[in-house]
Amino acid sequence: MPNLARPYGLRRFALPWLMLDAALPSRCFSCRTRLGSTQALGACRGCWMSLSPALEVTPIPVGGATVTSAVHYDELARRYLLRAKFGRRRELFEPMGAMILAAFRSVPFRPSCIVPVPSHPWMTWSRGFTPSREIARVVSRSTGVPMRALLYRRWFPWKSFKRLNRSARRTLAARAFGHLPGLHGQSVLLIDDLMTSGNTLAECVRLCSQAGANEIHGLVWAKAVF
Ligand SMILES: [Zn+2]
Repeated sequence: MPNLARPYGLRRFALPWLMLDAALPSRCFSCRTRLGSTQALGACRGCWMSLSPALEVTPIPVGGATVTSAVHYDELARRYLLRAKFGRRRELFEPMGAMILAAFRSVPFRPSCIVPVPSHPWMTWSRGFTPSREIARVVSRSTGVPMRALLYRRWFPWKSFKRLNRSARRTLAARAFGHLPGLHGQSVLLIDDLMTSGNTLAECVRLCSQAGANEIHGLVWAKAVF
């Protein structure tokens, strides 16, 4: 069978374009449509406009705390979060931080410090950043409220919260987190990218309360409902 690519030099012609396409993506990472001139950070205008704000306040069963979420966690929001976290596109946290900032301005709580919910140290090391810190930095910069990383997650237990039942998640959360001095008398705003079962945030609220914080509330980019 004749090799059709060779006579027309298609391989030689196509390869530089394929390389260019990989280096400068020309399609929206979310819907895969070809990007025009009105794109931002690799997504088309339609995808950005379709992220639906959904301000929702959820009570946490610890110390009267609540969590406010900014965006409805649908398939589109999930794609954005995966791109930012696992695609290591930390620049996406800037607009995500702006969305969470809008949610912050709509609630009456005025904190004295912003505390990002810590990730597992392995994830921070392998990614090179912590999603909650990236978002918290945007809120801190715009509001002037200082960001203080006073909570940390231990290397052990190593387990992921995924695929655990409710009581196992609660037990793991209680062993996984610790706090540094400096929370006494503070009004704390905990910030995270995503709330799933709520156990992580509940544990962070409990820790802040034990450390003497006056009032604690949470703010997340999205709340996943399972
Ligand atoms: Zn798109």
